[in-house]
Amino acid sequence: MTFIYCRHCDWGQDDFYDWRLWKRYSYNPVTKILGYIKEYARPRFIKFDPGFRGGGRFHSWDVMLFSIVRALREWYHMKWPTYRKWRKAYKSGKATCPTCGRTDGFTED
Ligand SMILES: [Zn+2]
Repeated sequence: MTFIYCRHCDWGQDDFYDWRLWKRYSYNPVTKILGYIKEYARPRFIKFDPGFRGGGRFHSWDVMLFSIVRALREWYHMKWPTYRKWRKAYKSGKATCPTCGRTDGFTED
């Protein structure tokens, strides 16, 4: 798991995606969404702590829909979806922060 952040502002993005779908644990929006469907398709109420939408009881389909929309939003906002694209942009000096425009503030974590 590798995230990148900008040290000069609050920009950051989701973990890099791995599109090798034949791998058992490839991380990308499709596997994330399939995971949410598998986890929340059975209708029931689930209790969450305040880390999820302020906490409380939510219907599993509400959680599923929220999680899918969030995954799609993260996908849409990915500046460099794969580690390879990120390294290529960084090495060529073309990696600029989408929020503050700086090129020298990235941290890989
Ligand atoms: Zn920045």
